[in-house]
Amino acid sequence: MATINNHYLKLKAGYLFPEIARRVNAFAAANPDAAIIKLGIGDVTEPLPEACRTAMIQAVHDMGDRSTFHGYGPEQGYLWLREKIAAQDFQARGCDIDASEIFISDGSKCDCGNILDILGSDNTIAVTDPVYPVYVDTNVMAGHTGPSNDQGEYDGLVYLPISADNNFTAEIPEQAVDLIYLCFPNNPTGAVASREHLQAWVNYANAHGSILLFDAAYEAFITDPTIPHSIYELEGARTCAIEFRSFSKNAGFTGTRCALTVVPKTLKGKAADGSEVDLHSLWNRRQSTKFNGVSYIVQRGAEAVYSEAGQSQIQALISFYMENATIIRDQLTQAGLSVYGGVNAPYVWVKTPHGLTSWDFFDKLLSQCHVVGTPGSGFGAAGEGYFRISAFNSRDNVNEAMARITATFQG
Ligand SMILES: *Cc1c(COP(=O)(O)O)cnc(C)c1O
Repeated sequence: MATINNHYLKLKAGYLFPEIARRVNAFAAANPDAAIIKLGIGDVTEPLPEACRTAMIQAVHDMGDRSTFHGYGPEQGYLWLREKIAAQDFQARGCDIDASEIFISDGSKCDCGNILDILGSDNTIAVTDPVYPVYVDTNVMAGHTGPSNDQGEYDGLVYLPISADNNFTAEIPEQAVDLIYLCFPNNPTGAVASREHLQAWVNYANAHGSILLFDAAYEAFITDPTIPHSIYELEGARTCAIEFRSFSKNAGFTGTRCALTVVPKTLKGKAADGSEVDLHSLWNRRQSTKFNGVSYIVQRGAEAVYSEAGQSQIQALISFYMENATIIRDQLTQAGLSVYGGVNAPYVWVKTPHGLTSWDFFDKLLSQCHVVGTPGSGFGAAGEGYFRISAFNSRDNVNEAMARITATFQG
């Protein structure tokens, strides 16, 4: 019989979201009249910007005419899109990033996992705790960890706890680690990293020959002008960092699929014979072999993000979600809860009151307010005692959910 990849058996089989669904379904079955509001999953709710839709409709028409039809595109993405990204997302912020260093893909989630294809299996890997589960699970699947313990921590990973005590930015480790996953603005905590903190990571990585895997999926939500949007705003990042970006959250492309990964040509890793190898060439080879590009139609939609109309429409979308975040922060604070995040990110990270566990608080919100959020412990052991509330929702749902919570907790 054919054998399987046994590392998959180590995975904590998708515990968090299935367990949330199980509890919500059980409550809904027992309380059929309860109008449940979901502020849980990190998906956008508002429609695609008009500029993107118009560009995609035009692209469909292009596909209907032999003279403008597009078959396979470049595996790296169309140059007209990569040049706009290089100019407006990077060079405009002083980042020395060229279009040839940008690779268009169908998602940052995939890229975060796929990047492991070009990296060795003997690297020491650090993640924050709590963390976006994709970074951990893709390493488990690749066989980079041992089994997990009761708290869901895997042998062989270095966990860097983040909490209110350290402003939700991990201490730079004493030991040398080879790969460090950083996500700022952060999912799930909504925290951001200062220029000084990111510079310290870049300096650490360059000193140890480590690589930072920097997930900037939420950069568009930054409101504080002192906070870097890209790791390449920091001196020295071109020799130690890969950056992941996505159109999912800024332009509502979660269902449309378009993202990008930046691999600078100056970034190197060590081969078995001790020589230094360009990671850009390896990623190019990997993508050319295993990926056939994002559809022409979707790339035209992404290109429209960089038009004047597109820019103002995505700004309006982001402002809408951030107003939701402000309402959530204000109302929860009024209800006497301690809240973090939600200022430069669409997530509010709530300290559970009275020492409730994350799941206790989940059950309380569900049963008393009919509101669903995400237990912090689902993102890692150090997320215990916290709870994530997402600002991705309609204004009516946010207002109603907050009214119920304040009514319950104030009294
Ligand atoms: C939503 C999200 C992404 C984007 O993933 P896509 O596959 O591009 O939709 C990346 N990283 C984090 C932490 C996210 O929450």
